[in-house]
Amino acid sequence: MFNRSRRNLASWFTLSMGSILLIFAGILYYQESIQQLEVLDLILYKKARVITASVRYKDYQGQKRVFLKHLPVLGNNPPADSEIIYARWYDTKGQLKHYFGELTQQKFNQKFAYQTLKITNNSGVSSQVIWLREITLPVKYKGELIGYLQMAMPMNRVQELLNRFLLLLISTILIALGITSLTGWFLSGIAMQPIHQSYQQLERFTAHASHELRTPLAAILSNAQVGLLASMEDSASKHMRLEKVAEVAKSMNTLIGNLLFLARRTGRLTPESLKNVDLNELLAELLNSQSVKTAAEHLNLQSDLPKSPIVMCVDAELISLAVINLLGNACKYTPAGGMVELRLFTKYSQAIIEVEDNGIGISAVDLPHIFEQFYRVEQHQKNSANSFGLGLAIAQQIIEAHGGHLSVKSELGKGSVFQIKLPL
Ligand code: ADP
Repeated sequence: MFNRSRRNLASWFTLSMGSILLIFAGILYYQESIQQLEVLDLILYKKARVITASVRYKDYQGQKRVFLKHLPVLGNNPPADSEIIYARWYDTKGQLKHYFGELTQQKFNQKFAYQTLKITNNSGVSSQVIWLREITLPVKYKGELIGYLQMAMPMNRVQELLNRFLLLLISTILIALGITSLTGWFLSGIAMQPIHQSYQQLERFTAHASHELRTPLAAILSNAQVGLLASMEDSASKHMRLEKVAEVAKSMNTLIGNLLFLARRTGRLTPESLKNVDLNELLAELLNSQSVKTAAEHLNLQSDLPKSPIVMCVDAELISLAVINLLGNACKYTPAGGMVELRLFTKYSQAIIEVEDNGIGISAVDLPHIFEQFYRVEQHQKNSANSFGLGLAIAQQIIEAHGGHLSVKSELGKGSVFQIKLPL
């Protein structure tokens, strides 16, 4: 699926870049052909001017007449310019008076003009198509119109140049397309990476979630079945089984709650959920809550909160949940008689909440993974009946949604410090 999307992305990229290149090449080719045509027209004009410079217009038997015999190409001398295919002289009324080269039947327009013509040269068995550029030049003598010179040159030099230019353009486009498709493939790979990662994460999440849900469900089922098998009179056994079912269902409820939380709360928080909260007061309330007191009854729970309030715009409920998760872990993974401390202070325009314990600690091997969903340290499992490896992932998600950062320092056998940094 990802390879197909990557291929699609790369092809669309190449296609769009290719179209842009083609349009660009088309414009370049058009500009070049216009330029080459202008050069040819200039040559044609200059040649025509050279020819017309020798026209004589004199009195002959009382009438003004045009004399063409001294003209190059059209005159008595043989043409020195082999590039001229034909040259024609028309009088002021548009009547053909003299010509050199081929004579084709075409309409004569009495005005200065350039024209591109296509003629077919039938030599022997094969016929050849030749493109010509023709000029029609009105000739004046002392301001008076005395006739028109029309002449044509072949366009093969221009065509050759344009063909060479076209070849260069095509090869450049092909190379550019090759590079574009490689770049497209590479870029689409980069673009697909986060999608691929999220997909893998989702797959992992679903696999873990179903695995975690299957275990308590199996426990509920087996307890219910054993309870059903017990005799009607054995109410003690039935009661015990029901208690087990209730206990497992409770933990399942917690797990489903956690899963829903992780699935729903992605990205940043909405502005409506944020309110100005005094963190000092919030943490003090947490320490006094019954759940924290129960969790820490076997420990020495201390706190170091500042005297003055630290007011921040946060979602109080979520921040409490993150701190409760950290405090809960600290209590869970610290043996009886140990110490757990909750601190709050500000540093470099950040509010910092620290939860420190002198419990069992986390090894360097497990430390990089503990924020991953469903990750649990194997050796700690006896300390945690109701642990799914989601508490830290939830805490991290909450803190990051507030634009903050959650980090940990821990040493096996010595204890851990979890630190929440929130921008003020
Ligand atoms: P759990 O529900 O298993 O506690 P968490 O995501 O909260 O899930 O924690 C992940 C793992 O990190 C726990 O299984 C535990 O092994 C380890 N851990 C978390 N906090 C502490 C702590 N304060 N001391 C030692 N280990 C801890």
